[in-house]
Amino acid sequence: MGALQKETPVDAFQLLIDLHKGAWRQGPGGDAETEKAVDLACMDRNAPLKVADIGCGTGASTLTLARLLNANITAVDLLPDFLDVLAARARREGVAESITPLCASMDQLPFAEEEFDVIWSEGAIYNIGFKQGIADWQRYLKPGGLLVVSEMSWITQARPSEIQRYWENEYPEIDLVSSKIRALEECGYSPIGYFVLPEHCWLKNYYDPLRASFQGFLSRNGNSQDARAIVEAERKEIELYEKYKAYYGYGVYIARKSGTEKS
Ligand code: SAH
Repeated sequence: MGALQKETPVDAFQLLIDLHKGAWRQGPGGDAETEKAVDLACMDRNAPLKVADIGCGTGASTLTLARLLNANITAVDLLPDFLDVLAARARREGVAESITPLCASMDQLPFAEEEFDVIWSEGAIYNIGFKQGIADWQRYLKPGGLLVVSEMSWITQARPSEIQRYWENEYPEIDLVSSKIRALEECGYSPIGYFVLPEHCWLKNYYDPLRASFQGFLSRNGNSQDARAIVEAERKEIELYEKYKAYYGYGVYIARKSGTEKS
């Protein structure tokens, strides 16, 4: 889903919640890809880990992590509606005991220094920007702790101007994979893995169900102008993905917090 800005009007906020809260996930991703990241990070599935899943939405990655790991997961989101759905799903799947929902903003987290073994965040860090997020969150990781974060990235050196302009307007921090990895290094992380989410994570897992929900969303909201504008914006994003998916994607970045002091 698009960025939630502090200046987003309350009504638009409610409409965005209404559009997205019934969905399995609120951004591109997949259970298999969450598991692939666990493996690339060489996470010990039996070790008792303390994990924060930041911008967890209704819990797509949270529930997968709870199933795969022996973890205690703090699931953070700004929107209580999403956390309610997450909690109900966790109860249904029998993993509620491993998950603590927490309503907080990702730029004002009530965490202690070095509290977590792992910080996880799928399709959400753009809300405060990649550089700010990786810098802010580092203090909550134990030395040697793991950061796993997905981030919109250019996957080719050059691209058509239409898509360049669109994404630079939507998310000015979009950049090449090499720049994201450099940013991690400059911030005191050691990058240990990267892959790009395959197409089905966007289309089958996220855009197709979203598209299928438009009609119901518009009816529920009296086909209002605001609701139609939201659907139009989503349709535009989907259309551009279908046309230009060779040029951008979500990179999944895996990095370890260096054990040594930054120089
Ligand atoms: N990780 C989930 C959701 C991704 S969508 C998934 O992959 O399905 C981005 C999420 O970030 C939304 O749930 C939104 O409510 C949340 N979010 C937006 N701004 C936030 C903020 N400032 N602090 C915490 N969460 C935020």
